[in-house]
Amino acid sequence: MLNLVLFGPPGAGKGTQADFLIQKFNLIHISTGELLRSLIAAETPLGIIAKSYIDEGNLAPDYIVIEMINTIANEKRDANGFVFDGFPRTVEQAIALDSLLNENNTPVSGMLYLDVPNAELIQRLNNRSETSGRADDRSVAVIENRLKTYHEKTDPLRDYYNRQNKYHRIDGTGTVNEIAERLFTTVSAL
Ligand code: AMP
Repeated sequence: MLNLVLFGPPGAGKGTQADFLIQKFNLIHISTGELLRSLIAAETPLGIIAKSYIDEGNLAPDYIVIEMINTIANEKRDANGFVFDGFPRTVEQAIALDSLLNENNTPVSGMLYLDVPNAELIQRLNNRSETSGRADDRSVAVIENRLKTYHEKTDPLRDYYNRQNKYHRIDGTGTVNEIAERLFTTVSAL
């Protein structure tokens, strides 16, 4: 199994690049952001709880996200592998993912960090706000809080994967095709 953690700040292009990776390597895309947005749209009890965090640019509680991942990974046990997009975002989530995958003897193959300068992220998120229809793309204050939350809670995970020798930095600037080619080269060598 090829299990990829696609990592980076909001606006780094994780969703776009996940689409390239799943096609190229025949993987299943798991985006916790998309899963949470569908819980919210369906107005489930967990969706209602998650919405109050997401609308402010804060992270949804770990227990909600970990439960979603466990469910979907168990449902798709016979997959060729997964692209985890936007997950893990905390150390607690990373530990939960390791134990889930280790139970199945299919550890994380590599973590791919899309590196994009902060000024470009803000520009991209502002552009996206015009088309995404996402509540959390609409306000500058919420975008700023998402970036701050990323730096405080999520960015430290680069060390977590580096210590496991699974960390790969990818230049996340240039055209989407150029970035995809860089990812393909790195993933093919895993
Ligand atoms: P994304 O679509 O990945 O940008 O996620 C949108 C929002 O959903 C984030 O700003 C968080 O509020 C929430 N979210 C997505 N993934 C996670 C996660 N792994 N842990 C906690 N919150 C998450």
